[in-house]
Amino acid sequence: LGPSTAWLREKERRYGAANYAPLPAVFQRGEGVWLWDTDGRRYLDMMSAYSAVSFGHSHPRLVQALTEQAQRLALTSRAFSSDRLPVFLERLCATFGYERALPVNTGLEAVETALKAARKWGYQVKGIAPGKARIIACDGNFHGRSIAIVGLSSNAHYRAGFGPFPPGLERIPFGDADALEAAITPDTAAFLVEPIQGEGGIVVPPAGYLSRCAEICRRHKVLLIADEVQTGLGRTGRLLACDHEGVRADGLILGKALGGGLLPVSAFLADRALMDVFGPGDHGSTFGGNPLAAAVGTEVLALLEQLRPWERAERLGTHLVQSLRAADLPGVRAIRGRGLLVGVAFEPNFADAGAIAERLLAHAIATRDTNGNVLRLAPPLIIDEETLEQAITTIVTTLRAFAA
Ligand code: PMP
Repeated sequence: LGPSTAWLREKERRYGAANYAPLPAVFQRGEGVWLWDTDGRRYLDMMSAYSAVSFGHSHPRLVQALTEQAQRLALTSRAFSSDRLPVFLERLCATFGYERALPVNTGLEAVETALKAARKWGYQVKGIAPGKARIIACDGNFHGRSIAIVGLSSNAHYRAGFGPFPPGLERIPFGDADALEAAITPDTAAFLVEPIQGEGGIVVPPAGYLSRCAEICRRHKVLLIADEVQTGLGRTGRLLACDHEGVRADGLILGKALGGGLLPVSAFLADRALMDVFGPGDHGSTFGGNPLAAAVGTEVLALLEQLRPWERAERLGTHLVQSLRAADLPGVRAIRGRGLLVGVAFEPNFADAGAIAERLLAHAIATRDTNGNVLRLAPPLIIDEETLEQAITTIVTTLRAFAA
Protein backbone atom coordinates (compact mmCIF):
# COMPACT_ATOMS: atom_id res chain seq x y z
CA LEU A 1 0.00 0.00 0.00
CA GLY A 2 1.05 3.55 -0.64
CA PRO A 3 1.57 6.39 1.81
CA SER A 4 -1.10 6.76 4.44
CA THR A 5 -4.34 8.56 3.79
CA ALA A 6 -3.74 11.05 6.60
CA TRP A 7 -0.23 11.86 5.34
CA LEU A 8 -1.49 12.49 1.81
CA ARG A 9 -4.40 14.60 2.99
CA GLU A 10 -2.10 16.72 5.11
CA LYS A 11 0.27 17.28 2.16
CA GLU A 12 -2.61 18.30 -0.09
CA ARG A 13 -3.85 20.69 2.57
CA ARG A 14 -0.38 22.10 3.10
CA TYR A 15 0.60 22.64 -0.54
CA GLY A 16 -2.67 22.87 -2.45
CA ALA A 17 -5.00 25.82 -2.86
CA ALA A 18 -8.05 25.41 -0.68
CA ASN A 19 -10.51 25.68 -3.58
CA TYR A 20 -11.97 22.24 -2.92
CA ALA A 21 -12.97 20.39 0.23
CA PRO A 22 -12.64 16.71 -0.68
CA LEU A 23 -14.22 14.00 1.46
CA PRO A 24 -11.76 11.98 3.57
CA ALA A 25 -11.08 9.11 1.13
CA VAL A 26 -7.92 9.23 -1.01
CA PHE A 27 -8.23 7.07 -4.11
CA GLN A 28 -5.40 5.41 -5.91
CA ARG A 29 -7.03 3.02 -8.36
CA GLY A 30 -10.19 2.77 -10.40
CA GLU A 31 -11.74 0.07 -12.54
CA GLY A 32 -15.24 0.04 -13.95
CA VAL A 33 -17.64 1.33 -11.32
CA TRP A 34 -15.12 0.81 -8.48
CA LEU A 35 -12.58 3.00 -6.75
CA TRP A 36 -9.92 1.82 -4.29
CA ASP A 37 -8.46 4.02 -1.57
CA THR A 38 -4.90 4.05 -0.26
CA ASP A 39 -5.85 1.43 2.32
CA GLY A 40 -7.09 -0.91 -0.40
CA ARG A 41 -10.73 -0.40 0.53
CA ARG A 42 -13.20 -0.60 -2.37
CA TYR A 43 -15.94 1.97 -2.99
CA LEU A 44 -18.78 2.16 -5.50
CA ASP A 45 -18.43 5.36 -7.52
CA MET A 46 -21.84 7.07 -7.50
CA MET A 47 -20.31 10.37 -8.56
CA SER A 48 -18.52 9.51 -11.81
CA ALA A 49 -16.41 12.68 -11.49
CA TYR A 50 -19.47 14.88 -12.00
CA SER A 51 -20.77 12.56 -14.75
CA ALA A 52 -17.48 12.37 -16.68
CA VAL A 53 -16.81 8.67 -16.09
CA SER A 54 -19.79 7.26 -17.98
CA PHE A 55 -17.98 4.21 -19.35
CA GLY A 56 -16.37 3.36 -16.03
CA HIS A 57 -12.82 3.92 -14.85
CA SER A 58 -10.02 2.97 -17.21
CA HIS A 59 -12.18 1.29 -19.84
CA PRO A 60 -9.73 -1.10 -21.60
CA ARG A 61 -10.58 0.10 -25.10
CA LEU A 62 -10.15 3.74 -24.11
CA VAL A 63 -6.91 3.06 -22.26
CA GLN A 64 -5.65 1.25 -25.34
CA ALA A 65 -6.60 4.13 -27.63
CA LEU A 66 -4.86 6.55 -25.28
CA THR A 67 -1.64 4.59 -24.82
CA GLU A 68 -1.27 3.65 -28.50
CA GLN A 69 -1.75 7.26 -29.48
CA ALA A 70 0.65 8.47 -26.77
CA GLN A 71 3.34 6.25 -28.27
CA ARG A 72 2.70 7.54 -31.79
CA LEU A 73 1.93 11.27 -31.56
CA ALA A 74 0.50 13.25 -28.66
CA LEU A 75 0.59 16.92 -29.61
CA THR A 76 1.01 19.15 -32.63
CA SER A 77 -1.08 22.14 -31.52
CA ARG A 78 -3.50 23.43 -34.13
CA ALA A 79 -0.63 25.07 -36.01
CA PHE A 80 -0.68 21.74 -37.87
CA SER A 81 -3.29 19.08 -38.23
CA SER A 82 -2.95 15.46 -37.18
CA ASP A 83 -4.25 12.31 -38.77
CA ARG A 84 -6.60 11.87 -35.80
CA LEU A 85 -8.45 15.16 -35.73
CA PRO A 86 -10.40 14.93 -39.01
CA VAL A 87 -11.69 11.48 -38.08
CA PHE A 88 -12.83 12.75 -34.67
CA LEU A 89 -14.55 15.81 -36.15
CA GLU A 90 -16.40 13.74 -38.74
CA ARG A 91 -17.57 11.29 -36.11
CA LEU A 92 -18.68 14.09 -33.75
CA CYS A 93 -20.75 15.69 -36.51
CA ALA A 94 -22.23 12.36 -37.59
CA THR A 95 -23.10 11.22 -34.06
CA PHE A 96 -24.85 14.41 -33.01
CA GLY A 97 -26.12 15.65 -36.36
CA TYR A 98 -24.27 18.93 -36.84
CA GLU A 99 -22.25 20.30 -39.77
CA ARG A 100 -19.26 21.55 -37.81
CA ALA A 101 -17.44 20.84 -34.54
CA LEU A 102 -14.88 22.91 -32.67
CA PRO A 103 -12.86 20.87 -30.17
CA VAL A 104 -11.54 22.37 -26.96
CA ASN A 105 -10.66 20.78 -23.62
CA THR A 106 -12.84 21.51 -20.63
CA GLY A 107 -16.53 22.16 -20.30
CA LEU A 108 -16.06 25.81 -19.52
CA GLU A 109 -13.95 26.32 -22.64
CA ALA A 110 -16.71 24.83 -24.78
CA VAL A 111 -19.24 27.14 -23.10
CA GLU A 112 -16.99 30.16 -23.72
CA THR A 113 -16.68 29.01 -27.33
CA ALA A 114 -20.46 28.93 -27.66
CA LEU A 115 -20.84 32.37 -26.09
CA LYS A 116 -18.22 33.87 -28.37
CA ALA A 117 -19.84 32.26 -31.42
CA ALA A 118 -23.26 33.55 -30.35
CA ARG A 119 -22.03 37.11 -29.82
CA LYS A 120 -20.28 37.25 -33.19
CA TRP A 121 -23.27 35.67 -34.91
CA GLY A 122 -25.42 38.34 -33.26
CA TYR A 123 -23.37 41.09 -34.89
CA GLN A 124 -22.58 39.46 -38.22
CA VAL A 125 -25.82 37.65 -38.97
CA LYS A 126 -28.55 39.12 -36.81
CA GLY A 127 -27.31 42.71 -37.14
CA ILE A 128 -27.16 43.58 -33.46
CA ALA A 129 -25.39 46.92 -32.86
CA PRO A 130 -21.71 46.56 -31.86
CA GLY A 131 -21.23 45.88 -28.15
CA LYS A 132 -24.90 45.19 -27.50
CA ALA A 133 -25.38 41.44 -27.95
CA ARG A 134 -27.16 39.91 -24.95
CA ILE A 135 -26.99 36.34 -23.69
CA ILE A 136 -29.74 34.92 -21.51
CA ALA A 137 -29.13 32.03 -19.10
CA CYS A 138 -31.14 30.50 -16.26
CA ASP A 139 -31.23 30.90 -12.51
CA GLY A 140 -29.53 27.92 -10.88
CA ASN A 141 -27.31 27.27 -13.89
CA PHE A 142 -23.83 25.84 -13.81
CA HIS A 143 -21.71 26.37 -16.91
CA GLY A 144 -18.23 26.57 -15.41
CA ARG A 145 -15.98 28.96 -13.51
CA SER A 146 -14.49 31.58 -15.83
CA ILE A 147 -15.25 35.23 -15.10
CA ALA A 148 -17.75 35.50 -17.97
CA ILE A 149 -19.45 32.28 -16.96
CA VAL A 150 -19.74 33.04 -13.26
CA GLY A 151 -21.05 36.38 -14.49
CA LEU A 152 -24.03 34.35 -15.71
CA SER A 153 -24.43 32.51 -12.41
CA SER A 154 -27.15 33.13 -9.85
CA ASN A 155 -25.03 31.51 -7.15
CA ALA A 156 -23.69 34.27 -4.90
CA HIS A 157 -20.87 32.05 -3.67
CA TYR A 158 -19.59 31.39 -7.21
CA ARG A 159 -19.59 35.13 -7.95
CA ALA A 160 -18.47 36.67 -4.67
CA GLY A 161 -15.26 38.63 -5.02
CA PHE A 162 -14.74 37.92 -8.73
CA GLY A 163 -16.50 40.85 -10.36
CA PRO A 164 -16.84 42.99 -12.36
CA PHE A 165 -18.41 40.73 -14.94
CA PRO A 166 -18.89 41.37 -18.67
CA PRO A 167 -22.10 43.20 -19.56
CA GLY A 168 -24.88 41.66 -21.61
CA LEU A 169 -25.27 38.57 -19.42
CA GLU A 170 -28.75 38.01 -18.02
CA ARG A 171 -30.84 35.41 -16.25
CA ILE A 172 -34.41 34.23 -16.13
CA PRO A 173 -36.07 31.54 -13.97
CA PHE A 174 -35.34 27.99 -15.13
CA GLY A 175 -38.33 26.03 -16.38
CA ASP A 176 -40.44 29.06 -17.31
CA ALA A 177 -40.73 29.48 -21.08
CA ASP A 178 -42.92 32.59 -20.71
CA ALA A 179 -40.05 34.27 -18.86
CA LEU A 180 -37.82 33.55 -21.85
CA GLU A 181 -40.30 35.08 -24.26
CA ALA A 182 -40.63 38.15 -22.02
CA ALA A 183 -36.87 38.59 -21.68
CA ILE A 184 -36.01 38.47 -25.37
CA THR A 185 -35.26 41.81 -27.07
CA PRO A 186 -33.95 42.51 -30.58
CA ASP A 187 -30.45 42.52 -29.04
CA THR A 188 -30.73 38.99 -27.65
CA ALA A 189 -28.24 36.71 -29.41
CA ALA A 190 -28.66 33.47 -27.50
CA PHE A 191 -30.40 31.53 -24.79
CA LEU A 192 -28.02 29.19 -22.96
CA VAL A 193 -29.63 26.33 -21.06
CA GLU A 194 -28.91 22.99 -19.43
CA PRO A 195 -31.77 20.67 -20.46
CA ILE A 196 -31.56 19.27 -16.93
CA GLN A 197 -29.64 21.29 -14.37
CA GLY A 198 -26.85 19.24 -12.83
CA GLU A 199 -24.87 21.28 -10.30
CA GLY A 200 -28.00 23.35 -9.66
CA GLY A 201 -29.39 20.35 -7.80
CA ILE A 202 -30.46 17.82 -10.49
CA VAL A 203 -33.45 19.89 -11.57
CA VAL A 204 -35.72 18.55 -14.32
CA PRO A 205 -37.83 21.28 -15.96
CA PRO A 206 -41.55 20.73 -16.66
CA ALA A 207 -42.39 18.58 -19.69
CA GLY A 208 -42.56 20.65 -22.85
CA TYR A 209 -40.27 23.38 -21.51
CA LEU A 210 -37.39 22.79 -23.85
CA SER A 211 -39.50 22.40 -26.97
CA ARG A 212 -41.34 25.64 -26.12
CA CYS A 213 -38.01 27.40 -25.64
CA ALA A 214 -36.87 26.08 -29.01
CA GLU A 215 -40.02 27.41 -30.65
CA ILE A 216 -39.65 30.82 -28.97
CA CYS A 217 -36.00 31.06 -29.97
CA ARG A 218 -36.80 30.17 -33.57
CA ARG A 219 -39.56 32.79 -33.75
CA HIS A 220 -37.33 35.55 -32.36
CA LYS A 221 -34.19 34.49 -34.23
CA VAL A 222 -32.37 33.77 -30.99
CA LEU A 223 -29.85 30.93 -30.83
CA LEU A 224 -30.77 28.05 -28.55
CA ILE A 225 -27.56 26.75 -27.02
CA ALA A 226 -27.77 23.53 -25.04
CA ASP A 227 -25.10 22.85 -22.44
CA GLU A 228 -25.03 19.04 -22.41
CA VAL A 229 -21.61 18.83 -20.75
CA GLN A 230 -23.17 16.84 -17.92
CA THR A 231 -26.35 15.47 -19.52
CA GLY A 232 -24.94 14.38 -22.88
CA LEU A 233 -23.72 11.00 -24.13
CA GLY A 234 -26.48 8.91 -22.62
CA ARG A 235 -26.43 10.10 -19.00
CA THR A 236 -30.15 10.97 -18.84
CA GLY A 237 -31.49 7.98 -20.77
CA ARG A 238 -31.18 9.47 -24.26
CA LEU A 239 -28.10 10.23 -26.33
CA LEU A 240 -28.75 13.89 -25.49
CA ALA A 241 -31.14 15.23 -22.86
CA CYS A 242 -32.55 17.45 -25.65
CA ASP A 243 -33.74 14.23 -27.31
CA HIS A 244 -36.34 13.76 -24.57
CA GLU A 245 -38.25 16.58 -26.24
CA GLY A 246 -37.11 16.11 -29.81
CA VAL A 247 -35.25 19.42 -29.63
CA ARG A 248 -32.22 20.15 -31.75
CA ALA A 249 -30.31 23.10 -30.35
CA ASP A 250 -28.58 25.58 -32.67
CA GLY A 251 -25.42 25.08 -30.68
CA LEU A 252 -24.49 22.00 -28.66
CA ILE A 253 -21.90 21.95 -25.89
CA LEU A 254 -20.31 18.63 -24.95
CA GLY A 255 -17.58 17.74 -22.46
CA LYS A 256 -16.95 15.45 -19.50
CA ALA A 257 -17.84 11.93 -20.77
CA LEU A 258 -16.52 12.81 -24.24
CA GLY A 259 -13.04 12.26 -22.82
CA GLY A 260 -13.98 8.80 -21.57
CA GLY A 261 -12.93 9.73 -18.04
CA LEU A 262 -9.30 9.71 -19.18
CA LEU A 263 -8.58 13.24 -20.29
CA PRO A 264 -10.35 16.54 -20.86
CA VAL A 265 -12.16 16.62 -24.20
CA SER A 266 -14.94 19.05 -25.00
CA ALA A 267 -16.52 20.47 -28.12
CA PHE A 268 -18.92 23.02 -29.46
CA LEU A 269 -21.08 21.80 -32.34
CA ALA A 270 -23.20 23.86 -34.71
CA ASP A 271 -24.18 24.17 -38.34
CA ARG A 272 -22.18 26.32 -40.74
CA ALA A 273 -24.46 29.34 -40.43
CA LEU A 274 -23.26 29.73 -36.85
CA MET A 275 -19.80 28.14 -36.88
CA ASP A 276 -18.69 30.14 -39.90
CA VAL A 277 -18.41 33.23 -37.71
CA PHE A 278 -15.01 31.85 -36.68
CA GLY A 279 -12.11 32.53 -39.02
CA PRO A 280 -8.43 31.68 -38.53
CA GLY A 281 -7.09 33.13 -35.30
CA ASP A 282 -10.49 34.06 -33.86
CA HIS A 283 -10.54 31.36 -31.23
CA GLY A 284 -8.64 28.28 -30.16
CA SER A 285 -6.39 26.54 -27.69
CA THR A 286 -3.03 24.78 -27.80
CA PHE A 287 -4.51 21.49 -26.66
CA GLY A 288 -7.97 21.56 -28.26
CA GLY A 289 -8.45 18.56 -30.54
CA ASN A 290 -4.96 17.20 -29.83
CA PRO A 291 -4.16 13.70 -31.12
CA LEU A 292 -4.69 12.08 -27.70
CA ALA A 293 -8.04 13.78 -27.25
CA ALA A 294 -9.07 12.99 -30.82
CA ALA A 295 -8.07 9.32 -30.53
CA VAL A 296 -9.85 8.83 -27.21
CA GLY A 297 -12.86 10.93 -28.28
CA THR A 298 -13.25 8.88 -31.44
CA GLU A 299 -13.12 5.66 -29.44
CA VAL A 300 -15.65 7.08 -26.96
CA LEU A 301 -18.06 7.77 -29.82
CA ALA A 302 -17.50 4.26 -31.19
CA LEU A 303 -18.22 2.78 -27.74
CA LEU A 304 -21.27 4.97 -27.43
CA GLU A 305 -22.70 3.66 -30.67
CA GLN A 306 -21.90 0.09 -29.73
CA LEU A 307 -23.03 0.07 -26.08
CA ARG A 308 -25.98 2.48 -26.43
CA PRO A 309 -25.52 3.32 -22.71
CA TRP A 310 -28.61 5.53 -22.69
CA GLU A 311 -30.77 2.40 -22.76
CA ARG A 312 -29.19 1.07 -19.58
CA ALA A 313 -29.26 4.57 -18.04
CA GLU A 314 -32.99 4.85 -18.73
CA ARG A 315 -33.82 1.41 -17.37
CA LEU A 316 -31.60 1.44 -14.29
CA GLY A 317 -32.27 5.10 -13.57
CA THR A 318 -36.01 4.51 -13.55
CA HIS A 319 -35.48 1.56 -11.22
CA LEU A 320 -33.26 3.64 -8.91
CA VAL A 321 -35.80 6.46 -8.66
CA GLN A 322 -38.74 4.09 -8.16
CA SER A 323 -36.93 2.06 -5.51
CA LEU A 324 -35.94 5.15 -3.53
CA ARG A 325 -39.44 6.59 -3.79
CA ALA A 326 -40.99 3.29 -2.70
CA ALA A 327 -38.69 3.22 0.34
CA ASP A 328 -40.53 6.29 1.62
CA LEU A 329 -37.40 7.67 3.23
CA PRO A 330 -37.63 10.06 6.18
CA GLY A 331 -36.60 13.67 5.58
CA VAL A 332 -36.63 13.33 1.81
CA ARG A 333 -38.42 16.10 -0.07
CA ALA A 334 -38.02 14.70 -3.57
CA ILE A 335 -36.23 12.05 -5.59
CA ARG A 336 -35.64 13.51 -9.02
CA GLY A 337 -33.66 13.25 -12.19
CA ARG A 338 -33.62 11.28 -15.42
CA GLY A 339 -31.62 8.26 -16.40
CA LEU A 340 -28.62 7.87 -14.13
CA LEU A 341 -28.52 11.53 -13.14
CA VAL A 342 -30.50 11.32 -9.92
CA GLY A 343 -30.76 13.63 -6.92
CA VAL A 344 -32.19 13.02 -3.47
CA ALA A 345 -33.38 16.38 -2.14
CA PHE A 346 -33.68 16.60 1.65
CA GLU A 347 -35.96 18.66 3.80
CA PRO A 348 -33.94 21.66 4.97
CA ASN A 349 -34.56 20.84 8.64
CA PHE A 350 -33.70 17.15 8.24
CA ALA A 351 -30.04 16.90 7.46
CA ASP A 352 -27.18 18.24 5.45
CA ALA A 353 -26.66 16.27 2.23
CA GLY A 354 -22.90 16.74 2.72
CA ALA A 355 -23.05 14.96 6.07
CA ILE A 356 -25.05 12.17 4.46
CA ALA A 357 -22.46 11.85 1.70
CA GLU A 358 -19.82 11.46 4.41
CA ARG A 359 -21.86 8.74 6.09
CA LEU A 360 -22.28 6.94 2.76
CA LEU A 361 -18.52 7.10 2.21
CA ALA A 362 -18.09 5.18 5.46
CA HIS A 363 -20.39 2.57 3.87
CA ALA A 364 -18.23 2.40 0.72
CA ILE A 365 -20.39 4.56 -1.53
CA ALA A 366 -18.53 7.53 -2.98
CA THR A 367 -20.67 10.52 -3.84
CA ARG A 368 -21.17 14.17 -2.93
CA ASP A 369 -23.93 16.62 -2.26
CA THR A 370 -24.86 19.31 -4.71
CA ASN A 371 -26.66 22.62 -4.61
CA GLY A 372 -29.87 22.89 -2.56
CA ASN A 373 -29.15 20.10 -0.10
CA VAL A 374 -29.29 17.38 -2.73
CA LEU A 375 -27.39 14.09 -2.71
CA ARG A 376 -26.13 13.13 -6.15
CA LEU A 377 -26.50 9.56 -7.42
CA ALA A 378 -24.78 9.24 -10.78
CA PRO A 379 -22.83 6.01 -11.20
CA PRO A 380 -21.01 5.10 -14.41
CA LEU A 381 -23.63 4.09 -17.00
CA ILE A 382 -22.11 0.60 -17.21
CA ILE A 383 -23.20 -0.29 -13.67
CA ASP A 384 -24.88 -3.71 -13.48
CA GLU A 385 -28.25 -4.50 -11.91
CA GLU A 386 -26.88 -6.39 -8.93
CA THR A 387 -24.39 -3.68 -7.98
CA LEU A 388 -27.07 -1.02 -8.24
CA GLU A 389 -29.42 -3.12 -6.11
CA GLN A 390 -26.77 -3.42 -3.39
CA ALA A 391 -26.19 0.32 -3.55
CA ILE A 392 -29.90 1.01 -3.17
CA THR A 393 -29.99 -1.21 -0.08
CA THR A 394 -26.98 0.60 1.43
CA ILE A 395 -28.41 4.03 0.65
CA VAL A 396 -31.82 3.19 2.11
CA THR A 397 -30.29 1.67 5.25
CA THR A 398 -27.92 4.60 5.70
CA LEU A 399 -30.64 7.21 5.28
CA ARG A 400 -32.93 5.38 7.72
CA ALA A 401 -30.10 5.14 10.26
CA PHE A 402 -29.37 8.83 9.75
CA ALA A 403 -32.94 9.70 10.65
CA ALA A 404 -33.03 7.42 13.69
N1 PMP B 1 -21.48 22.82 -17.95
C1 PMP B 1 -22.09 21.94 -17.14
C2 PMP B 1 -23.54 21.64 -17.36
C3 PMP B 1 -21.39 21.31 -16.11
O1 PMP B 1 -22.00 20.45 -15.29
C4 PMP B 1 -20.02 21.61 -15.95
C5 PMP B 1 -19.17 20.95 -14.87
N2 PMP B 1 -19.81 20.54 -13.73
C6 PMP B 1 -19.43 22.53 -16.81
C7 PMP B 1 -20.18 23.11 -17.82
C8 PMP B 1 -17.98 22.92 -16.69
O2 PMP B 1 -17.16 21.89 -17.08
P1 PMP B 1 -15.62 21.89 -16.65
O3 PMP B 1 -15.58 21.61 -15.18
O4 PMP B 1 -15.01 20.79 -17.47
O5 PMP B 1 -15.09 23.23 -16.99
